[in-house]
Amino acid sequence: MENVTEKSEQRLIDAFSLSDQVALVTGGGSGIGFDIAKCLRAAGARVVITGRRETVLQEAAKELDAHYYVNDITEKHLLPDLVERIESEIGPIDILVNNAGINLKKPVWEVTDEDFETILQTNLNAVFALTRECGRRMKERGRGSVIMISSMAALYGIDRVVAYSASKSAIGGMVKALATEFSPLGIRINAIAPGFIETPMMLKAMNGDPSRRDKAISRTPMATWGKPDDIGWATVYLCSPAARFVTGITLPVDGGNSIGF
Ligand code: NDP
Repeated sequence: MENVTEKSEQRLIDAFSLSDQVALVTGGGSGIGFDIAKCLRAAGARVVITGRRETVLQEAAKELDAHYYVNDITEKHLLPDLVERIESEIGPIDILVNNAGINLKKPVWEVTDEDFETILQTNLNAVFALTRECGRRMKERGRGSVIMISSMAALYGIDRVVAYSASKSAIGGMVKALATEFSPLGIRINAIAPGFIETPMMLKAMNGDPSRRDKAISRTPMATWGKPDDIGWATVYLCSPAARFVTGITLPVDGGNSIGF
């Protein structure tokens, strides 16, 4: 009996283990990215985090026992070199989590072309460039998993976030298109659409806007904000052997927000 229990426990551990895999988490020094990195570490992965602020990364890497590289993902010409450095210094990237992102809340009439382009540069163009760069190497090895971070703003209309909504909606299309090209190569790609998760970005968007805050909570059946590690554990699942037949999806992790009345 004891043997059966031990075997079952081992099967469970193996199904969700990311043991010794190398995971790159952009924007992993803070917010949701930090907790994604923390959960990936707990599942056994070796983790690399990136971002623009070295002091934030230094502290986070220490706490996570992770590696860090200072990098602005919008500097697209630097991405091939970043990937090369990570692969030669840490190891082949098995998991890419495109978490880094920015938001902008303004009425459409005040959104300049520069504003619009800035959001798309970070949330879409850089995500594509880094995915292509890592995907190229995953293709050679015949394995890999890519996670995109989408948003409720890609699933239904939210006012005053036109550029952000456009960028995150495009991510959903990219995931479906790339899943068709990546699948025969042994690479899976999925997105997570977080609901309203307690982070500096979300709290900034809600602060001083109580009616928006109340609306977000009132259409969330679980009637609370999510925690960053809710997104972290969903990431572990989607990258793990347990999800080996899952690709091309956008998984809402949202306390029911996307289906709330
Ligand atoms: P935060 O603002 O807390 O964190 C964003 C992270 O991205 C930071 O670590 C930041 O580091 C990094 N980053 C931003 N721009 C760049 C850049 N150009 N190059 C490299 N790194 C960059 O945001 P959240 O944790 O809330 O958001 C993380 C992701 O989750 C985003 O994609 C966001 O759109 C998404 N999301 C968040 C929701 C929420 O409720 N919080 C809901 C839905 C989606 P640094 O400044 O040092 O570069």
